[in-house]
Amino acid sequence: MSPIKHYVDGKAWEGTSTATQPVLNPSTGQEQAEVLLASKDDVDAVIASAEKAQPGWAAQNPQKRVRVIMEWIRLIHKNMDELAETLSLQHGKTFEDAKGDVQRGVDVLEFCLGAPHQLKGEYSTGVGRGIDTYSLRQPLGVVAGITPFNFPAMIPLWKAGPALASGNAFVLKPSERDPSVPVRLAELFLEAGGPEGVFNVVHGGKDAVDAILDSDTIRAVGFVGSTPIAQYIYTRCAETGKRAQCFGGAKNHAIVLPDADIDATADALVGAAFGSAGERCMALSVVVPVGQETADRLREALKERIPSLKVGHSLDPEADYGPLVTQDAKDRVERLIGEGVDAGADLVCDGRELDMSSAEFKGDSLAEGFFSGPSFFDHVTPDMSIYTEEIFGPVLAMVRAETLEEAISYPNDHVYGNGVAIFTQQGGAARDFATAINVGMVGINVPIPVPIAYHTFGGWKASGFGDLNQHGPDAFRFYTKTKTVTSRWPDDSSTGPQFTMPVMN
Ligand code: NAD
Repeated sequence: MSPIKHYVDGKAWEGTSTATQPVLNPSTGQEQAEVLLASKDDVDAVIASAEKAQPGWAAQNPQKRVRVIMEWIRLIHKNMDELAETLSLQHGKTFEDAKGDVQRGVDVLEFCLGAPHQLKGEYSTGVGRGIDTYSLRQPLGVVAGITPFNFPAMIPLWKAGPALASGNAFVLKPSERDPSVPVRLAELFLEAGGPEGVFNVVHGGKDAVDAILDSDTIRAVGFVGSTPIAQYIYTRCAETGKRAQCFGGAKNHAIVLPDADIDATADALVGAAFGSAGERCMALSVVVPVGQETADRLREALKERIPSLKVGHSLDPEADYGPLVTQDAKDRVERLIGEGVDAGADLVCDGRELDMSSAEFKGDSLAEGFFSGPSFFDHVTPDMSIYTEEIFGPVLAMVRAETLEEAISYPNDHVYGNGVAIFTQQGGAARDFATAINVGMVGINVPIPVPIAYHTFGGWKASGFGDLNQHGPDAFRFYTKTKTVTSRWPDDSSTGPQFTMPVMN
């Protein structure tokens, strides 16, 4: 079987490195392909191709660039089922969830159709006699995206859309665990009329990333992944003078007030904690009910729902969620569950008991798949590793609080600050909470508050490094630099050389 190749200059490219890594089907545990891993020389060649293509793309009127994106959106929709199936088979999220992954990326491409407006500068006339000042936004040149396994369509599109619409050439280094959809997206960009070399995809691990970070040509890096790597990339970019926005891990809390509708809240929590096997940076992994009675009612409501969740092959339409991405991910989740038990937390539902040894889907055995059943802990305390660490699996932890102040202190004091939610019917309490909380994205009776494309997405504290968020107007600021021009016309007013700082009188 031929390996999944890089995509350069509008075509598949093998590069010079023959190193590969298996790409698994997490539902069966079987290898379904191999992906080539680029060497430094390969990455340099990809960057050189982007550098060659960029000036022509930047010189196009932004409306013309946007017309390519418009056609790209149409082609993505036309190929939606194929993209979602490939994504589901490499990642392990369900087919419907995979379509959501693609669609949330397309939402950002739709926002990018307004690029001519976003790139419009500002003009001040008559700032002095015959003097005007205007500012314009220009592309950076060649920029890179380094993206995680858990949203292999959405996050590459969040990076590629604004970068390309702004007139940059884009080098994507997607996750090596589910690399096919990013390549397909680049192919569709070309089919939509995008020039060769403007959107390149290079596969690899740390070596490929380091080659991007070491390149003098790359002017900006948009990263999403785990916090240690986000911090590493942010630091390296600062050292080499590159712009960087680096988004990391998360531990998202949901606070439940005594007046919340417990059934609706339990439904929301179950979807947000276990959807996509908990492998979302906005998954709700901690619930903090206020008061023992609220906690007891919520515990019962969750206990009723969690055991009936159906875990299955990612293409099984009956499955609520599929497998974890790798055996390592499953082992890690189960190790942390064990640590929670050892630390004295009350394991109400134990996902480790899930038995898939005789399960099948369309004739395929699921016995070797990376499945983990839904787990639910009560009486978790902030010193336990199941609370401090991002588990990134189907595990919900309940931390009981006596007061709202105590409840708020948990997300406020946690090292991560990606998303948070509050469930209540009191508008005033919700409003105060949204104002005071030390977390980047807030949901009020909304369990996964991923902002829509025309607002911006970004976590605080260890969940995000850099001052500009993803998508929305911030993305255009990130992928462009401002130039400010001061001009004097007519130029007939020389009063001889001036040796003091010019000031407006
Ligand atoms: P990861 O950090 O392992 O990998 C992310 C990218 O970095 C991949 O492209 C990978 O190849 C590369 N990489 C991995 N190890 C590297 C190293 N040592 N040096 C240089 N590059 C390296 O993350 P993942 O497992 O793919 O994704 C899951 C993580 O991403 C979770 O922590 C999740 O919370 C986070 N995430 C965050 C957001 C957000 O917006 N904050 C969104 C999605 C996922």
